[in-house]
Amino acid sequence: MISKLPDTGTSIFTVMSAMANEYGAINLSQGFPDFPIDPNLENSVLRSLKAGHVQYAPMAGRPDIREQISKLIYDRYKLSVLPDSEITITAGATQAIFTAIAALVNPGDEVIMFDPAYDCYDPSVKVFGGIPIHLKLKHPDYSIDWDEAEQKVNDKTRIIITNNPHNPCGSVWTENDLIRLEKIVSRYKNLYVISDEVYEYIQFKKQHHTVLKNELLRSRSFVVFSFGKTLHVTGWKLGYCIAPEALTTEFRKVHQFNVFCVNNTIQAGVADYLSRYADTKSIADFYQKKRDLFLQAISKSKFKPLTCDGTYFCLLDFTSISNEPDVEFAKQLIKEIGVASIPVSVFYKDQTDNHVLRFCFAKKDETIIKATEKLCSLKNCPDSNQSILGKQRSQL
Ligand code: PMP
Ligand code: GLN
Repeated sequence: MISKLPDTGTSIFTVMSAMANEYGAINLSQGFPDFPIDPNLENSVLRSLKAGHVQYAPMAGRPDIREQISKLIYDRYKLSVLPDSEITITAGATQAIFTAIAALVNPGDEVIMFDPAYDCYDPSVKVFGGIPIHLKLKHPDYSIDWDEAEQKVNDKTRIIITNNPHNPCGSVWTENDLIRLEKIVSRYKNLYVISDEVYEYIQFKKQHHTVLKNELLRSRSFVVFSFGKTLHVTGWKLGYCIAPEALTTEFRKVHQFNVFCVNNTIQAGVADYLSRYADTKSIADFYQKKRDLFLQAISKSKFKPLTCDGTYFCLLDFTSISNEPDVEFAKQLIKEIGVASIPVSVFYKDQTDNHVLRFCFAKKDETIIKATEKLCSLKNCPDSNQSILGKQRSQL
């Protein structure tokens, strides 16, 4: 068979989590919480199950959950979003992104994305014959070079995919990012934005600059969110896409044939929970404490943390420990130190290696403490040509 994705292998999250299991390492690689969920959320879902919400949900999502999402958006941003015509419930943000790309991309269309880019963007574009155009975020602050983006956009550019707060980098947007994006989008009438905002609540600057706030951008954007992050339930794969009516109509034409509808029991349970208990305001503080615990512990190590203003990931620079390629170093960390992370070079089309690893701190405090103790046991390597871990093993 002729592969549509000849260069695509197994996702790094699958690879690193499998290695973590194999070697019994603490898994800070794939992003998922290891703590229990709110018992009220469990009860809401159990109630939903007992109430018999077990058959197909409406194609666009249950009205009750769409209503609750509209309230959430209003409470947070003071923006009105119409539940019936502007919100579609999806099987996680991944399906929302895939569906938006499917609805927009024709063969030969260019799609701009910024490396290090979340792994699903590039292959989803290629599957529909689109051409991914990879630009690089500036290292080490991982901000967007808007001058470069402005130069690269042309009549063939169909989508700009943005991600704020940013996975894997932990960088967040300022007002200026919205202004610069608006300037570009306003010049091309067939240019759209897919704005991946799954970490909207995990924001340590306390102000999330959603594209929904900008009128022009809102009229051209598919904005993607995930309850997996907001409610600490990544395995439920429940997300949603907000877009103006005309774009939502096109989105749903695809949605109805790639998934039709999403898990009814979970939708009804989450709708019930949101109507009774929604406390999204505490999420940022909750994760900020975890970030600070991680950073404080890691300050005693040879790793150098890069700025983390959002998401539940922190990048650590390991240049003062090793000059090995990040993929190799990450594998050694699993095998020999017992901590799994994600090498950031895999998120670059050209595998740029800045010697940084991504660590997930969405973990119980005890997990963070145990993992950081192990990471602090690493010293710098006198002979950088050899496996540092190999050299140090005898001393550990
Ligand atoms: N975008 C980003 C930036 C993510 O980090 C993730 C998952 N962690 C997704 C999209 C996919 O979200 P979901 O699990 O809801 O499909
Ligand atoms: N989004 C999660 C992460 O960044 C992983 C999701 C997945 O495994 N596809 O770690």
